[in-house]
Parts: sequence; structure tokens; C-alpha cells
Amino acid sequence: MSNNDFSHDAYQKFLNSHILMGAKCLACGATYLPPRPMCSACGSHEMTWMELHGEGKLAAYTVIQIAPTMMLEAGYGRNHPYCSGIVELNDGPAISAQILGVDVAHPEAIKIETPLKAVFVERGEGEKKQTFLAFEVL
Ligand SMILES: [Zn+2]
Repeated sequence: MSNNDFSHDAYQKFLNSHILMGAKCLACGATYLPPRPMCSACGSHEMTWMELHGEGKLAAYTVIQIAPTMMLEAGYGRNHPYCSGIVELNDGPAISAQILGVDVAHPEAIKIETPLKAVFVERGEGEKKQTFLAFEVL
């Protein structure tokens, strides 16, 4: 893998190894997760990989009952809703991911700014097995 390959595949390969890697713009310092090859803040292509510690806080969330296929296959859906949130990482970037360890039956009790940490969830079998980034309450 080239150092300049800020593709989803490259990001996924790190995730499969349980490493959370974002990208940082060398020109202006903006950070991205998932990584991207060009900085949308300043237009620079001078990006570098940045390992993230995966701790942050909940910025926004929604409880999802109409699940996409991958989540239906994982057992979520109308009778087993899950929480999806935006997590602001202490290292800079924000990312949308599943939030674990919150009470989805009482979404009004879920607090913005809840401290979270990244966890790596394996889903699927054989060829379809993939690692997903999620966050759980600290
Ligand atoms: Zn930049």
C-alpha cells in the first residue's frame, strides 16, 4: 500500500487490524476520518496518515429502527433498534458510527457529550467478514 493511498480500502485494512487511522492535512492541520486524499478545508493534496486514539464524545445521535441491510443481517431492525451517532474525537475529526452501551429503549436519556471510546466490531462470515468501527460508553 502506498503512503498516498487514502482510499476506503486502505482505511478498511487498518480497521481489520483494529487500528483507527485518519488523515491529516500537512498544509493546514485539518483532520479527516475516514481519511481522504484531498483537504476540503484548503484544497491541499499533502496528506499524512494519523493514528487516532479513538476517544471522544457524543455530538449527535439518532435511534434507528429502519436498518440498512448490513445491520439487518447483524440482527438489528424494528424490534431491535440501534443508536447511530456523530462522535467528535479528541484527536480532531468527527465520524458517524454505531454507539454501543446506550439505552436505545429510552433515547431521551442518551446524553450529548457522553464520553466514548472506539471499539472494533466483526460482522459477517467468511468472505463477507468485515470489521466495523463503533463506539461504546466509557
Ligand atoms: Zn488543509
